[in-house]
Amino acid sequence: MSSDKDKTLSGLPESDLPKKHYDIYAVLEAPQELYFGDEKEVNVNVIEKVRVMIDGREYEKCYISPTKRRGVERRCLLWSDAGGKLLMDKIECGIPNTCCKNTCPVCCVFGGLEAGKKTFIGRMTHSGGVSVSSQIALEKQRAMHPALMYKNSDTDKEKHNPMPYRKEYAQPGLLYPVSNHCLSITEQEFSTAAYAFLMSLNRLGAGNPKGVSFARAKWGNEDLPLLVVDEYRVPMGDRPIISPSIVDNKSAVAAFIKLADTINTDKTEIFKRSTGNAALKRLQDAAAVFEKTYLQS
Ligand SMILES: [Zn+2]
Repeated sequence: MSSDKDKTLSGLPESDLPKKHYDIYAVLEAPQELYFGDEKEVNVNVIEKVRVMIDGREYEKCYISPTKRRGVERRCLLWSDAGGKLLMDKIECGIPNTCCKNTCPVCCVFGGLEAGKKTFIGRMTHSGGVSVSSQIALEKQRAMHPALMYKNSDTDKEKHNPMPYRKEYAQPGLLYPVSNHCLSITEQEFSTAAYAFLMSLNRLGAGNPKGVSFARAKWGNEDLPLLVVDEYRVPMGDRPIISPSIVDNKSAVAAFIKLADTINTDKTEIFKRSTGNAALKRLQDAAAVFEKTYLQS
């Protein structure tokens, strides 16, 4: 590990270990309705949506924003148990008070900022999250919310009139293609990314219910999770990214599989892709390394 006197130009800790690029591509499926907070309208919590123009027609699509996924992943890491303590207490790294220590597995990958002193540039970026099909979100009435019990009105009559509290939900069964991209990290650092990605799946969405799973589809002769993990020095495979202009689940799944199966080299030392169950095992094995390295003892 480097000390302050042998600071690197990049500001990142020096390491003798080889660095590579790693990408995770997945199609996530919400097994139940999901709520994603957005701005609060009067007495309605609105889910985050994006508008997409396709062939001159405007579609409204649900959205799991990459910044939200990033926040959930970071919290999943910091709130993990590390020998009876939360990892954040063990390494003294929080949100927003990131520690920027060379030894911090979270700051080294996600980036950190110690005001006026040190900046770690995050080397993992999050992408995607626009749902495939364009279904209108459901708006439901929930129990009274204490903060919204009274209308913000001057008239006494309305002041004492409790307001129902409504929330918008994204429909179950929506598919969300997402990807995480890691630039120049070590296999050890990838273990942080893999653990965070897997742990975040049960916690995506604000409030309750929460959680997404990997969408599955017939891939070759098997029913497999729609998941791809790349590790490479040169990007020699087609990137399985679904265009937001696709609104049909079947077309999206077919496009994902076709792109994932396109690998333009046989040199695994420069480009290695795992797909389906092999990709899931790749992530799980890496996540186990994170647990062993940072959470045990
Ligand atoms: Zn940290």
